[in-house]
Amino acid sequence: MIHKIGILTSGGDAPGMNCAIRAVVRAGLHYGLEVYGVMDGYRGLVEGGENIFKMDRSSVSDIVNRGGTVLGTARLREFKEESVRQIAVNNLRKTGIDALVVIGGDGSYMGAKKLTEMGIDCVGLPGTIDNDIASTDYTIGFDTCLNTIMYCVDHIRDTTESHQRCAVIEVMGNHCGDLALFSGIAEGAEMIITPDHPIPEDEIISSLKKMYEAKRKRAVVIVSEKIYPDINAFAARIQEQTGFETKAEVLGRVQRGGSPSAFDRILAARMGAYAVDCLLAGKGGICIGMVNNKIVDYDIYEALKLPRDKHISMLRLVDILN
Ligand code: ATP
Repeated sequence: MIHKIGILTSGGDAPGMNCAIRAVVRAGLHYGLEVYGVMDGYRGLVEGGENIFKMDRSSVSDIVNRGGTVLGTARLREFKEESVRQIAVNNLRKTGIDALVVIGGDGSYMGAKKLTEMGIDCVGLPGTIDNDIASTDYTIGFDTCLNTIMYCVDHIRDTTESHQRCAVIEVMGNHCGDLALFSGIAEGAEMIITPDHPIPEDEIISSLKKMYEAKRKRAVVIVSEKIYPDINAFAARIQEQTGFETKAEVLGRVQRGGSPSAFDRILAARMGAYAVDCLLAGKGGICIGMVNNKIVDYDIYEALKLPRDKHISMLRLVDILN
């Protein structure tokens, strides 16, 4: 039976992480557990001391609407080394913490799995804007980020249309195309270019040229990050070869922050409470997902082996709707 649990956020921050922290703390307290926060991800766990502190109900008051993570987040490459993880395990044991909830992406999941193998039961929650975790339909933060992208693209469209321009808009997603795919569909983008749906440049140019010649008022091209090393040069080639005056826009970190959407808050609340249920049931080395609107858990190694193109079939909408 566990008595004390810890919670940390790791990897890139995402809106809704605070809601997940709140859910874990409140659920833990509800079931009579002591709950400890760990500052700055695995780095705080290794440094120990004041980075590991007891939380109460009020520690998570008024954070439900805040973006980012009140526990801070970090990346600690050395956590891949067993000797470094052993320091973390010792720090947890010193405080009497038996189990840990880790909110982060797939890298953080690996850390959680390896800690479990060293005797600390860990449960991973998918906290990342990228939606690049296959064991859940949606990650915490994705919906908020998507709405932020939509807000930005709506604004860009207004000016793009007024000037009969082409806008090439680069969105985040790491190596996952979901942010581009979903925002492209939500915006009725003329073209969507993602890692799962790369379009040869000559095809892009000839399609946009046809649109220009057909007097299309504007063209919006949504592109996943990490596809074009120089997005401005890509936009310049489009302008040169199609007739469209073309501007590149890199939305950047504005996409990461902001108050979480209702969807992300509720997803985080459901997953956080479920994570505590799992720890109380003696489970470890697992991660939580939402599949077909049910909250489920997977072994972390199994989860990381699942195919990542869970929403690829939505690409057909691009052809049908344009
Ligand atoms: P995001 O999706 O936002 O990038 P992430 O959790 O995938 O989040 P990473 O930087 O890949 O981000 O991982 C976060 C941390 O998890 C790393 O800094 C490291 O401390 C730990 N980690 C990553 N991979 C491993 C591994 N193979 N073994 C142990 N720990 C790991």
